[in-house]
Amino acid sequence: MNYRKILHAFNNWFVFFLLAAFVVTCCTMLFVSTLSETLDIVFTEENIASAAKLTFGNVLLISLIFTIIDTVRRKLTVDRPTKCIISAGEKITGGDFSVRIEHLRDSYAYESFNSIIDCFNKMAQELGSVETLRTDFIANVSHELKTPLAIMQNYGTMLQSPDLSDKKRIEYAKGITENSRRLASLITNILKLNKLENQRIFPVSERFDLSEQLCCSLLQFEEIWEQKSIDIETDIEDSVYINSDSELLELVWNNLLSNAFKFTEKGGAVSVALTADEDFATVKIADTGCGISPETGAHIFEKFYQGDTSHAMQGNGLGLALVKRVVDIMNGEIAVESEVGIGSTFIVKLKRGDSDGLEKAD
Ligand code: ADP
Repeated sequence: MNYRKILHAFNNWFVFFLLAAFVVTCCTMLFVSTLSETLDIVFTEENIASAAKLTFGNVLLISLIFTIIDTVRRKLTVDRPTKCIISAGEKITGGDFSVRIEHLRDSYAYESFNSIIDCFNKMAQELGSVETLRTDFIANVSHELKTPLAIMQNYGTMLQSPDLSDKKRIEYAKGITENSRRLASLITNILKLNKLENQRIFPVSERFDLSEQLCCSLLQFEEIWEQKSIDIETDIEDSVYINSDSELLELVWNNLLSNAFKFTEKGGAVSVALTADEDFATVKIADTGCGISPETGAHIFEKFYQGDTSHAMQGNGLGLALVKRVVDIMNGEIAVESEVGIGSTFIVKLKRGDSDGLEKAD
């Protein structure tokens, strides 16, 4: 790289040296030849002055020719690529993010321009993908908002009919309540995700008992596991203290457990395990649900992705996107092991924080 730069600098100097030498030689030769024509007649002051004037005129002419040559050179080597970049920039300002600028042919002489072009193309590509994400996000949000609203509208219309039995009235009212709850949860999740993605949530580091937090999160699902006769297995190490943001982590356990119970059929099993060493705490949440195929597994952490549409009404495809974002913010790791028809295990590995926060089980 340095060798190339030195060669390039030498090349520039050499070209300018040749040009300058050429101009000086031309001027000198013109002066000498004008003088030598008059020399054999009379070598007077007047003759020298007229030779100098003529040479001055010639120098002006030569410099004019070189100015024209230099202007053409600048038009081709500087103005043309600059215009290209400006016109591409204007297209981007107008919203066309597909625009790309081609590399200039002589990559050696145009090294700086090609670097600017590389940066520009990268910027256009980034802006394009942000725009796609934004439009996808708006389309997804609108769709997710429309569905519960339409259902609520229907129930509301049906509730207006005068000859409605008490059973039907309660059923429709329940429908409205359920869908308004879904709507509220969707909006809460969107807001949380938005805050997390814009880094407006700064995780606080506090020392707390992860074992206790996991047990509390699990207990919140008691009604569901009793309703579905789901077997619960726990292998939670006692008093595993970590330094982390407990509120954000609660979001992780609630989403993973909610999915485990949602995707596990009646009579299945859900297990929660927590192990820890000096540096890390590892939580495993496993279920005997429908499992996740490799194709679905590749997308589960994407926003609004729902692999299993039979449970679509019970979620909005944002749960795992939130989980992933929180784990990333905490510099943790999340992995999934799953087999279709057998079940899934979500493994979350978190740093326990500095040694002051460690408190081992008795
Ligand atoms: P949702 O709230 O709609 O379930 P998530 O982001 O939580 O959205 O999950 C995305 C998708 O990941 C689900 O639609 C489902 O296909 C898959 N998934 C997540 N957890 C499980 C699980 N425990 N068992 C089977 N599939 C799961």
